[in-house]
Amino acid sequence: MNFDLGEDDRLLVEGVREFCEREIAPHAAAWDEAEAMPEDLPARLAELGLLGMELPEETGGVGLSAVAGAAVVAELARASAAVALSVAAHNALVVGYVHRCATAEQRDRCLPPLVDGRWLGAFALSEPAAGTDATALETVARKAGNDYVLSGRKTTITHGTRAGLYLVAARIETGDGPIGTFAVEADRPGIEKTRVPTLGMCACDVGDVTFADVRVPASGLLGTPGESWRDLKAVLDRGRINVAAMATGIAHAAFEAARDYAKERRQFGRPIADFQAIQWKLADMATRLEAARLLVMQAAAAHDAGLRVRELAARAKVFAAETAVDAANDAVQIHGGYGYTREYPVERYLRDARLCGIGEGTNDVMRLLVGRAVARRFGGGAQA
Ligand SMILES: Cc1cc2nc3c(=O)[nH]c(=O)nc-3n(C[C@H](O)[C@H](O)[C@H](O)COP(=O)(O)OP(=O)(O)OC[C@H]3O[C@@H](n4cnc5c(N)ncnc54)[C@H](O)[C@@H]3O)c2cc1C
Repeated sequence: MNFDLGEDDRLLVEGVREFCEREIAPHAAAWDEAEAMPEDLPARLAELGLLGMELPEETGGVGLSAVAGAAVVAELARASAAVALSVAAHNALVVGYVHRCATAEQRDRCLPPLVDGRWLGAFALSEPAAGTDATALETVARKAGNDYVLSGRKTTITHGTRAGLYLVAARIETGDGPIGTFAVEADRPGIEKTRVPTLGMCACDVGDVTFADVRVPASGLLGTPGESWRDLKAVLDRGRINVAAMATGIAHAAFEAARDYAKERRQFGRPIADFQAIQWKLADMATRLEAARLLVMQAAAAHDAGLRVRELAARAKVFAAETAVDAANDAVQIHGGYGYTREYPVERYLRDARLCGIGEGTNDVMRLLVGRAVARRFGGGAQA
């Protein structure tokens, strides 16, 4: 497979790396501590084209391939995983869903503010009693004249309190009706938002959102009810490649921090990098990071080739997520006691990495998807 970026995409990724080194990495610890990003960050990301990076140019985006998009997300995560989460969720789940399912009129209404940074997008699928089993969702959309009225509660939603636009999955009319997805502007009456404190990714807004009889015009319904579940799964498959890319960015940062510290820290009269126990950790980190990157690129390239990526995305996500946690954990160990303090960034990498094996499908579920695909190939009866 060819993972070459091409000249334009390569230049954009390099530009993002420079932006991250200059504008994000120096502030990542402070933003984590403050549990917030600067208000103007979305506008600055939009200037780089990052809020519509994979949208085709004719719809106002940059038209990056999935391979290049993954490279961008990895660069962002190397500087700040919270920023990467924000950009990844906005692009793959919200902009991607609108682009996939919306009519021309709906795209004209939703995409410009999402792409130019006026709106962050939130993908509101998870509910208190419907996480992995998302089809158990209880939010209902009842028809009322030309409108729908949405009632229900969504939980741990990225951009939950800051979003300008929510994509809300709801059962239409009754608790067992077809699932539909609605584009809901954040200023509609009846939306209540509460910030949810998290272990990591602290600079990224995550919140619970309650829809208490929120009226949405019928033109807010995206796609065809009954097909929404298929569309949601397709968008999640795509999103998982970006979560995997995010994990490689965290693993990369952890590796670099550990390598640099090991060369500089001296014990017993020599750099700790001279000790074989440290070298083995660094060797495993570097090897697994490279393997994770290859799985991410393989899944992204398959997506660019128009292939179904459920299994490839799941493989990449579970491997990269576990690589990131292990790399961050080893980086803390290599830093000794300092690694456990806030003086060094490695404790943040460990907290941030933990999300990669939970959000957009847990590691268990990724293994389930890979297992089903493998069983099917070898004649098993498992269902995808
Ligand atoms: C920081 C953050 C951001 C998030 N952002 C969003 C967002 O933007 N939009 C959104 O809709 N959701 C979002 N989520 C929610 C996330 O997608 C869910 O947390 C995730 O899908 C898991 O669901 P759950 O938490 O309900 O866990 P559960 O489904 O209750 O799972 C609990 C445990 O049981 C295991 N388990 C469940 N079912 C199975 C099974 N069939 N086989 C084996 N093991 C199983 C799981 O692996 C897990 O270990 C976010 C979560 C976090 C923490």
